[in-house]
Amino acid sequence: MKPIKKLLIANRGEIACRVIRACKRLGISSVAVYSDADAEALHVKQADESVHIGPSKSAHSYLDIGKILAAAKQVGADAIHPGYGFLSENAEFATAVIESGIVWIGPDPASIRNMGDKQKARDIAVAAHVPVVPGSIRFRSDNMDKLHVEANRVGFPLLVKAAAGGGGIGMKHVSKPEDLQAAVVATQSLAKSAFGNADVFLEKYIPNARHVEIQIFGFPGGAVHFYERDCSTQRRFQKIIEESPAPNLSQEVRHGMVIAAVSLANSVHYRGAGTVEFILDVDTDAYYFLEMNTRIQVEHPVTEMTTDSDLVSMQIQLARGDLVLIDQASIRQMGHAIECRLYAENPAKRFMPSPGVLQQFDFTYANPAFIRIETGYEMQNEITPFYDPMIAKVIAYGDNREDAVNRLLAVLENARVEGIKSNLSFLIACLKDPLFQQGKITTNFVAENITSLT
Ligand code: ADP
Ligand code: ADP
Ligand code: MG
Repeated sequence: MKPIKKLLIANRGEIACRVIRACKRLGISSVAVYSDADAEALHVKQADESVHIGPSKSAHSYLDIGKILAAAKQVGADAIHPGYGFLSENAEFATAVIESGIVWIGPDPASIRNMGDKQKARDIAVAAHVPVVPGSIRFRSDNMDKLHVEANRVGFPLLVKAAAGGGGIGMKHVSKPEDLQAAVVATQSLAKSAFGNADVFLEKYIPNARHVEIQIFGFPGGAVHFYERDCSTQRRFQKIIEESPAPNLSQEVRHGMVIAAVSLANSVHYRGAGTVEFILDVDTDAYYFLEMNTRIQVEHPVTEMTTDSDLVSMQIQLARGDLVLIDQASIRQMGHAIECRLYAENPAKRFMPSPGVLQQFDFTYANPAFIRIETGYEMQNEITPFYDPMIAKVIAYGDNREDAVNRLLAVLENARVEGIKSNLSFLIACLKDPLFQQGKITTNFVAENITSLT
């Protein structure tokens, strides 16, 4: 047992609020950190204590390891939860936290480091007998000789991917050899500035695909899974609507994926919450490992609702050493849950972020028995251009998919979000689309239907 009395959340927005809620439930005092732009933010109000960590630019606040550790020392925090994004998958940060004698709420730094490199992660998957998409060797700017040979081996169309990429950033679709060199150079330079690592590799592009991922949780004696989430509704390789269970998924594929995810987690002795992402080829029903995210994920609530679990509290309990081992057989998938991400952005203008003041922000229609609203904002707050423009996640539960979708629609249709451009009506259009309602969409759904959806 490592008693945790005071926990610092190295994050902002809805996930910071979510962790504060878990702290309250576990009787732990919570500490928020905030930048200039977030002085009035909800996570600061909800936490028991807060520490100002600097300017609005995240490089000088939420991404500054020194400032986060100084804040933790200042208030005497004995644990740090990183949320998602920011420093959550930074092995150097995890190591620094542990070396300061503070409990790190996350997996081993080695797991973070290995899985944080998409290509190393692919090697680990292959070693664990988990299928991966055909891919190439790694290309650095000083090592491009085999580019075309490798591209032909992988085959076109393909994706150029940043090894350190994330959040849909650092990925380029290439359909013909003539465009390859330029795409590789552009991705290397983007990856260098976004992730501090210019390495890229090529991966075969699956044209008709679904994104299906498995929530796992590693205990000292082995990992269990909490079934799948379908996250195929995406724009720019980023998820917008997620649900569990995945509609129209055969038991055979679901079973294969959960077994693969658990063996992968066990092969690295993975500890805590993690997600193993797969791409499912709808033409063949073959699935391939994409990457593993070594943190709590944005869409974890759909899993919590369908498996009656509290993954964030479990992360904290595991770290302090009093989480009772959960038996796989006791984890059941019940009903259906669906989440949508409400963004301050303009779908008609290529989803361009639309910062501004939230003049109206109201979900009065939401019945807490079936609906979760996860947000870090309240009326009159400003959505600033400094961070991800997600305003809220709205999650609905139902006995079946149709009930869940209808409940989500009812909440969205009665919501008031004003002062900024938002994707609210776009989300409603997605949920009402016949193809979506039949559960037959692929990751191309948004791009192919952009005119009718906006
Ligand atoms: P999830 O798989 O949990 O849905 P996303 O890929 O949407 O995660 O990312 C969650 C958040 O973390 C987003 O704000 C995204 O921009 C950010 N993010 C994820 N990976 C990275 C990364 N490697 N570098 C910077 N930001 C990232
Ligand atoms: P990130 O780290 O940015 O989340 P991922 O590798 O998980 O990157 O891919 C993000 C999304 O890009 C996937 O959900 C999927 O829609 C698309 N994608 C990634 N790899 C492939 C592929 N090989 N074929 C088709 N689509 C892909
Ligand atoms: Mg991913």
